[in-house]
Amino acid sequence: MTPGLPLQLLLVCDPASDELALEQPLKQHGLDFSVERADTLDRLDALLHSECSALLYHYASRTLPLDEVLARLRKIDPELPIILVAAEVSENMVIDLVQQGLSDFVLEDKLARLPGVLERVLAEAARQRESRERHDQLRKFALAVEQSPASIIITDTTPVIEYVNEAFCRNSGYAREEVLGRNPNLLNLGLTPRKTYTELWETLGRGEVWQGELHNTRKDGTDYIEAATIAPVREPDGRISHYVAIKSDITDERRSESLIHRLSHFDSLTGLANRSQMLKRLEQSAAAMQRTGRHGMLIVLDIDGFKFINDLHGYQAGDALLLSVTQRLRDTLTDESMIARIGGNRFAVVVENLSRRRDRAVTQAHDLAELIHAELQDPHFLEQDGVSIRHATTMGLCLLSTEPEAADRLLNKAEIALQRARDESGNNWRFFKPDMQTVVEERAEVESGLHEALEKGRLRLFYQSLYDAEGRLTGVEALIRWFRPDGQMVPPDRFIPLAEETGLILPIGAWVVETACAKLREWSQNPETAELFLSINISARQFHQPRFVESLLKVMDDYDIEPGRLVLELTESVVLNDMGHTEQRMLAIRDLGIGLALDDFGTGFSSLSYLKSLPFDTLKIDRSFVSDMLGSESSAAIVQATISMGHALGLKVTAEGVENKRELSLLRRFGCDSFQGFLFARPLPPEDWAPADQSLD
Ligand code: C2E
Ligand code: CA
Ligand code: CA
Repeated sequence: MTPGLPLQLLLVCDPASDELALEQPLKQHGLDFSVERADTLDRLDALLHSECSALLYHYASRTLPLDEVLARLRKIDPELPIILVAAEVSENMVIDLVQQGLSDFVLEDKLARLPGVLERVLAEAARQRESRERHDQLRKFALAVEQSPASIIITDTTPVIEYVNEAFCRNSGYAREEVLGRNPNLLNLGLTPRKTYTELWETLGRGEVWQGELHNTRKDGTDYIEAATIAPVREPDGRISHYVAIKSDITDERRSESLIHRLSHFDSLTGLANRSQMLKRLEQSAAAMQRTGRHGMLIVLDIDGFKFINDLHGYQAGDALLLSVTQRLRDTLTDESMIARIGGNRFAVVVENLSRRRDRAVTQAHDLAELIHAELQDPHFLEQDGVSIRHATTMGLCLLSTEPEAADRLLNKAEIALQRARDESGNNWRFFKPDMQTVVEERAEVESGLHEALEKGRLRLFYQSLYDAEGRLTGVEALIRWFRPDGQMVPPDRFIPLAEETGLILPIGAWVVETACAKLREWSQNPETAELFLSINISARQFHQPRFVESLLKVMDDYDIEPGRLVLELTESVVLNDMGHTEQRMLAIRDLGIGLALDDFGTGFSSLSYLKSLPFDTLKIDRSFVSDMLGSESSAAIVQATISMGHALGLKVTAEGVENKRELSLLRRFGCDSFQGFLFARPLPPEDWAPADQSLD
């Protein structure tokens, strides 16, 4: 009821009834009101759409039955209070009407109660409206918080997380259940400087709002930077009950800021020569060395993890570190040496005046590299941030001799040596050697050729037969071959390791699986080959790739092959990777019915413990043992022990590389189950391969 304004009452009654009888008690009560009367449905509708405070229904209007009016009310203005005035009402009728929306009733002979009832009903309606409005507002609020693009966390004062919104879950990678009840510092793995936290709690302790940056870590281990506003929430009595944190991810901004800064301040920061100046100087030095007959050295040097330091401590810290490195290099080197910055975190040093004698010069270069490396190992103290930073340094060295050589070639050599040092472990240094160049070039050539081979279908599978102790053909191993456009064949040992390194093994491996399954499908149509198994070699990277088992299943499904016909050969490098994961994956593969063979047994760690715990069904003795067996008693003993051990573990044992009858007869004596080697069959292209048993005598 709005105080001060006259009530607008809507009256529904028959024309014949006495309207004044209802108004009288209200007037007597001193209520300020106006009345509109509805005697048709249209009029009622119109009035319901206008402003009104309550409806009085005088029972019983013949033109406007009560249930009709209630239905109208529910549709148009469900909150409008309605009071029934009637000569008599039964209890059942009241219950029924209240369910339909009636607010209250007054008996005709007790009309004096009407003002009181009206006031109560209006007060109740006002209360409900208010609570509904508050509820609506809260709901809007909750929705806004929940769907806000900013991460929002509410904690108690402990602080224990009581609420996080959707954006928080999205940004942090944590599900709500994983963080509720926990301390928000679960996001902080120590990347935010301690100083920041001290300041944060001091500010909140004073009851003030804190704003700053937090370096947090997601559930998946990646880190991100957030701009955060954290505010205390107070109860009406002033006590702090909660904290609200509102945070947005500014990682990208920080990173691009730092990049822009770096590009625009390059070299002006350190005052060092840049790349092109360095190359010029290198050319002059080379010319000078030809005149003087002295040697020199070019060093290329990387600050490892620089990007990380930049992201973590900000580009100011990154700059300070670069300056500190520059200073150390200046302190370590003589004035004649040139120091240059040739990339974001890459420095180059040109050293002249080493000995005329090459061996002396190499020793001098060696000592100097060691000194520089050691000097840079000490932590750098960055004053303005109050942090100490230790970084690894990787260096590539190239001796400058009296032979004329272009500056960019020299730089390229030092960079190849740097790459080698990094491949070996990082935080060390290497001299360039000509074979590094060859290796680099060869690798690049093999890699691009292999890409092409895969695309143009120049890979083939060859098939080598395996036999049991009676000489019966039991299965075949598929061995990959690469044919160059000129018809030259590249054996797998020359390209599989590189394919592993570059990741090309994944498409290659997928091609092998597919080709093998197509072959099995073909075999299944012919009774002579329907029972054979086909073994394929699976490399570590392929085996551990995320959807390996699913992809196997899919191909087997596509070709509709019986899983028992397929065998995967794994080496110890697969197994040693991550025992838990390997075991799980192998069990999944075995559950599909696929066979598992341990390849090259004896060449690796050959630990019995994993053999026992992993679900292999075949063990393949490496061909080096087989070929040594006749000439070396210890090799023969190893082969014999391996066969007995394999049998004790319930495995079938295959010998690879059987080249002659004497090897075969000894292996048979030892109880070997299965044989593979040039004695029986070489790996053959599919068009030459045919199923045939052997006579072993
Ligand atoms: P592996 O799995 O040990 O394959 C057996 C190797 O021994 C084959 O060499 C085969 O030609 C050779 N061999 C068979 N019988 C004899 C014999 O009596 N005497 C001698 N001296 N050698 C014999 P290949 O085909 O050059 O394969 C070399 C390695 O390349 C394989 O060793 C395997 O580790 C890998 N490889 C081959 N194909 C694939 C493939 O499709 N995928 C993967 N990831 N690796 C493969
Ligand atoms: Ca093999
Ligand atoms: Ca092998």
